[in-house]
Parts: sequence; C-alpha cells; structure tokens
Amino acid sequence: MSIALICTGTELLKGSTVNTNGAMLGRKLVSMGMTINFETVVGDREEDLYMALSASVRVADQIVICGGLGPTDDDISLPCTCRFFGMELEEDPVLHEKVKAFWARIHTGHCPRKQYRQAMVPVGGRYIPNPAGSASGMFFEADYAGRRRRVYLLPGPPSEFVPMVNDHVAGMLADGEKWRVTTGGFLCAGTGESTISALVEPVLSKVPVEIAYTAGFDGTRLYLSGKKTAVARGLKLAATAIGDSALPPGETDLVDYVVKLLLKKKLTVGFAESCTGGMISSSLTDRPGVSAVFPGAVVSYSNDVKMKLLGVSPDTLSQHGAVSEETAMEMVSGVCRVLGSDCGIAVTGIAGPDGGTDEKPVGLVYIAAKVRRKVMVEKYNFRGGRDTVRRRTMARAFLMLLHLLRNK
Ligand code: ATP
Ligand code: MG
Repeated sequence: MSIALICTGTELLKGSTVNTNGAMLGRKLVSMGMTINFETVVGDREEDLYMALSASVRVADQIVICGGLGPTDDDISLPCTCRFFGMELEEDPVLHEKVKAFWARIHTGHCPRKQYRQAMVPVGGRYIPNPAGSASGMFFEADYAGRRRRVYLLPGPPSEFVPMVNDHVAGMLADGEKWRVTTGGFLCAGTGESTISALVEPVLSKVPVEIAYTAGFDGTRLYLSGKKTAVARGLKLAATAIGDSALPPGETDLVDYVVKLLLKKKLTVGFAESCTGGMISSSLTDRPGVSAVFPGAVVSYSNDVKMKLLGVSPDTLSQHGAVSEETAMEMVSGVCRVLGSDCGIAVTGIAGPDGGTDEKPVGLVYIAAKVRRKVMVEKYNFRGGRDTVRRRTMARAFLMLLHLLRNK
C-alpha cells in the first residue's frame, strides 16, 4: 500500500492548465525516498472524483486530493471526499476567524456566508495552514475496507499547493509511510491451519500484528499485517515456533521455492507422471526460466510406456500392479536415468471416478521422489474428485521433493 494522488479540475483535462502540481509532488517525494504509486486526473464532477477515490483506496493508504477547495458550489472535493470516507464536517472556530480575516484583507464589506464553507473541517481531522490563500488544506484519518487511510486535501493553485507540500504535507506523508501497514508471510509447507494457529498464536500474543491464514493442498500460508518492524519480528517468532515446515519470509509459493532450491544447488529434476498426466510438468513450465532445472518428463499413462520408456519391469507390474510402491520406485529411477536428471518425481495412482477396487480405491496414489541417491516413496489415500486427487498429488509430490532437497 502506498501513496495516491488525485488532481481535480476540468482545466487539467482540457490541457488549458498543465498538471504541474502532480510533477512537483512526484519529484518532492522521490527526493525523500518515496513515490506516488497511482495518480488520476478528474474533472470537477462528483461521480468522477468518487470513481478516482474508489480506485485509489484499492492501491493506497495515503491519498492526496488536489484542487476544488474553493467556496463555490462547483468546489466539491471536501464534501465529496468526506462522504466517500463516511466523515462528518463541522465548523472550526479558529478557521472561521481566519476566513473572515482573509476576506477583510482583500475585500470591503461583509464576508458572504458561502465563504465560511472554507471553515468546515472533517470531524476528528484538522486543517493544514495555507498562508497564500483562503482555502486551508485538510487532513483526516479514516478506516476504509479494513485499513487505516490518511487523506489530504490541498488547494490547486501552485502558489498555494507547493509551499503547503514543502512545509507540511511532505513530512506528514513521510510519517504516514513510517506507520504504514505492511503484510509479510510465508508458506508452512505441508502443515494444516489448526496446527499453525496453535503454534503461532501464543508467541504472537504480544506482537501488534494481525494474523491471517490461507490453507491450500501444499500447506498453510501465514500472513502478518502491521507496522514493518512488528511484522518482521512476528515473522521471526512465528518461524521459530513453527520449525521445519516454515519457508523463509516472503516465500509463499511452494513450486517457486523448490525451483529456487534446485537452481541454488544446480540440480535438475524430471518427472514420470501417470495419473497427473503432465500437470506437474506444466506447473513447473508455467514459470519462466525453469529450463536450467527441468529437462523434461515422461507421461507414462499406460503400462507399456512405463515398461518401454522408463524400464519398469514386467514382473513388478504383474506382481504389484501399476499403482504400487514398487512401480513408483522403478518409475522414478527410470525417469532420472532416461533424462539424466539429478532428481525425479514419479506418481502413479487412481484419480477416479472409475478404476477403483476395494483393495485399491479411488484416491490411492504412490509418489516416489529422488534427489541424487536419496529416494523416498509414500502412499496416500486422497479424498475428493478427480481434479482434487490430482491437485493433492501434485502438491504432495513437490512437498516430498522439498523435503529431500532441504535434507540433502
Ligand atoms: P477554480 O474555481 O478557479 O477552479 P478552485 O476553487 O477549484 O478554483 P482549485 O481547483 O484549487 O481551485 O485550483 C485553482 C487553479 O489552480 C486552477 O484554475 C489551476 O490554474 C490551478 N491548478 C489546479 N490544479 C492544478 C494542478 N494540478 N497543477 C497546476 N495547476 C493547478
Ligand atoms: Mg478547480
């Protein structure tokens, strides 16, 4: 989450005024190590400003609105923004006097009532002084879609906007960045949500972070949100409490992480896929840059291919069947030999809905994984339909490969 700028003014859209304020704020923030991450220009129409606000809150937690703070009916920025964030407006007595004094400096006679619109401040917010004009800037904080937002409204004339940014708003934005909520997380490979929550909640009880979990076939993703320092501390504590299954901070994708390990260890991996029919290979080649670790795979759906291409012995197939520990083991050594790969995964199983027997029901899958000389084979009875069985198989296959790679 970051900083968004909305510039209002039909004149900016027409090109009769150049949006120098956007450029000025952009340059100023860059000079302070920040950036505007999203910027929109809208005309002086309420629905357009609303649309720009809706888009801005999706990407930013600090939003600057420039222009439209005048006292006339077409100056909609403040009421419209307050309506959007559910903020009330009230008159500020100090500002009331300022507006009156400003008027008296330039005009004779009574200060018109409309002018006092510029004395209205969002309840709970405050005004930002504008020594060069009658429209003060406004600042408030509001909760929107579960997050704290900091909102700044500034007048459009550059002679007012620029000094206000330099004197106040740039510093306030920098403060906001320090307090900004960040989210960090990692995958707890192969571990369920309830196990993870039981491990991390006690150690995080005193760390000011929000905890979120998302469960997948490959484990549970743990996410912490809060101030940067609290998130970093929380992730460290959580990783220690979780132990082996915790991937390093930021690693939330199992396949990505396995690829990284393979690259780091300069290893290649080949697959012998029966019931997954190429899914495992495809999940790898979905990612660019895997050619250094992935020479290819054999989709050995039939017994014939298992024998002819992978060298599975006819005796193994007739004695134990295609869906067996023995076949999975021979498939994995076969594929490593045929492809010349350092590592291998072989899967053979019954994905369903047909083909199950009492002895070998739908969901029975054997997975063998090999990293150099180390081999492991596991038997699973997965629940679910064909697609679920295949997806669970794929996740488990990568988890087994991860296990061997980490313990190499
Ligand atoms: P007006 O009624 O003249 O539009 P206003 O009350 O709406 O005034 P602002 O929208 O704050 O006041 O801006 C007034 C003037 O400031 C504009 O006419 C334009 O010349 C200048 N201005 C506004 N936005 C920008 C911008 N982004 N960059 C440069 N100049 C701007
Ligand atoms: Mg304007």
